[in-house]
Amino acid sequence: MLKYPTSFPMQIDMNEGLLCFYVFWRPEPGAANPYMPGQKHQSFNFVPLRRVDPCRCGSDRPFGDCCRLKPYLQSICPNPGCSGFSPIQQFSSTFDGVDATAIRKVLGDKSRWKLVQDSPGQTAWIYWGEPICESKEGIYCFGDLALRSPRTLVATTLSETRSIALNDALHRDLTKFGLPEPTIFSKPALVYDKVTKELVTPGGESRGVNAWTGWASRAGNAWARKPRRRRR
Ligand SMILES: [Zn+2]
Repeated sequence: MLKYPTSFPMQIDMNEGLLCFYVFWRPEPGAANPYMPGQKHQSFNFVPLRRVDPCRCGSDRPFGDCCRLKPYLQSICPNPGCSGFSPIQQFSSTFDGVDATAIRKVLGDKSRWKLVQDSPGQTAWIYWGEPICESKEGIYCFGDLALRSPRTLVATTLSETRSIALNDALHRDLTKFGLPEPTIFSKPALVYDKVTKELVTPGGESRGVNAWTGWASRAGNAWARKPRRRRR
């Protein structure tokens, strides 16, 4: 899902902004039913920032005192509900022992889930969040959800904020069907080294050596702490 530009434009000064990754859903041109199957469009945009501007990573500090100081270009993505941005970090939540029939039925009634694939052995949704955020590019996508087997549901997102929101929404929609607690894995996204302009892991290791870390993330703990939390 996350495909970085292989080379970074040399004329851009990496100290003068952040890299923002967007994913949109939009209807297939000319489709009989404009809402199925649709297509995903993704883009990386460089967002210029002044030192005094609030940093877009969600820290509330001035950019000059925050991500501008990092030795790599920070990548961010928008939060669900059209509310700010967060650093990109890849999260995967696996729910084992789910009721696939109930999931198909319940999620089909909710606008925050967009069914994008439904064939034997392949059922998948995009998480649109709440409220749904739209632009001229299409409807923003904040995560992917798939039934990997009749008993296993897997959610993948690109930030901790998205992971918390998606898992929270899943819990609200499915808790009465005995949704199990997820096993959550996380790994940092690649970043661009400001000196070499090459893709590296945030710690500076070369590309491709990072594995899923498997630690219980703050997202997982937050989810576990408030299993019965409801919004509205
Ligand atoms: Zn920052």
